[in-house]
Amino acid sequence: MIKRRTVQFQPNSRNLFFHILTACNLKCAHCYINREQHGTRTLDESTIKKWLKLFSISAGSKTIKSVEDTNVVFLGGEPTLNPALPEAIKEARRLGYGSVTVDTNGYLFHDILDKVTPDEVDYFSFSLDGSSPSVNDPIRGKGSFDTCTAGIKKAVEKGFSVSAIFTASSRNISNLPKMPSLLKGLGVSRFFIQVIGIRGNPAKREGSSLQLTKDVWESVVPETARKAAALGLICHYPKVFLKQDEPFECAGIVAENYFLFPNGRVYTCPLCEDYPLHAFEIVDDRLVKRPPLTETELFSLSIPEGCVMNKLFHPANIKYDKDGVPSYKIACCMLKEEVCLS
Ligand code: SF4
Ligand code: SF4
Repeated sequence: MIKRRTVQFQPNSRNLFFHILTACNLKCAHCYINREQHGTRTLDESTIKKWLKLFSISAGSKTIKSVEDTNVVFLGGEPTLNPALPEAIKEARRLGYGSVTVDTNGYLFHDILDKVTPDEVDYFSFSLDGSSPSVNDPIRGKGSFDTCTAGIKKAVEKGFSVSAIFTASSRNISNLPKMPSLLKGLGVSRFFIQVIGIRGNPAKREGSSLQLTKDVWESVVPETARKAAALGLICHYPKVFLKQDEPFECAGIVAENYFLFPNGRVYTCPLCEDYPLHAFEIVDDRLVKRPPLTETELFSLSIPEGCVMNKLFHPANIKYDKDGVPSYKIACCMLKEEVCLS
């Protein structure tokens, strides 16, 4: 039987999305990295260790009792380009983080799979935006499909747990239904479908032409997730749209997510990352709360459209009826549906 549930924000967990550099060998069309805002620094081993320590303690946290309640995801840029990644992973383990994930484009630089073990990494998450080179490569770069799928196979052979991330846009949504069988064949166990966010490159270039309408999203994504679950994959996708009578919550208020960049900026909402609205920053290896006005003050604005940042930065996502009432609410981008076999 297929089980479908909304994964509510966990009151006793914290997620650290740790960008250990912004450099990357690819130039994906939908890349959200913004070097003007996040710098070009590659963090060294000593700095990564100090910053991991900052988020491994419960002091100052509303909800965290111990380090096991914190999950860390290493990302970039391409995190395997940073030679300090193996030590970063081992340090996160030593400190007792609840889980350690590496998001990669699949190029697996510096022989990362030979330098860490499946006991140290809970998941390698590979980004793949199509079921064939003809769909994936125009978005992610020539040769990236073959390299990424070869990387997935190698990781699976070495005993690592592997997930895949598909960023859905108008360029590849029609190909999404072909992904579950490809991923099953490659040995992937979790499948994350993301919706394109208009940040970074898309904000500068193609803009909203890449975005998906509510009708397209709802006609393709839930059914693909069901197919993936029927094959035994655990599938997650963002809820995106809420009916007016469904409850809305902002993760910036009810959850603890930190998006940490190499220039020391720490955001608590990913939609703010193109702006200097970060709630915290790391100064002299200390986590410091910034004075207003930051994202924090904006979270508490209660509006009928749901997510306040979406209304500020992407108002075209919202449709209104003839009386000016929003036809639906935009959910927090961190709210996910999970579909799997029960
Ligand atoms: S692999 Fe990731 S960091 Fe690199 S260009 Fe693509 S989206 Fe950006
Ligand atoms: S995406 Fe919207 S709802 Fe979620 S944390 Fe940001 S402002 Fe809050």
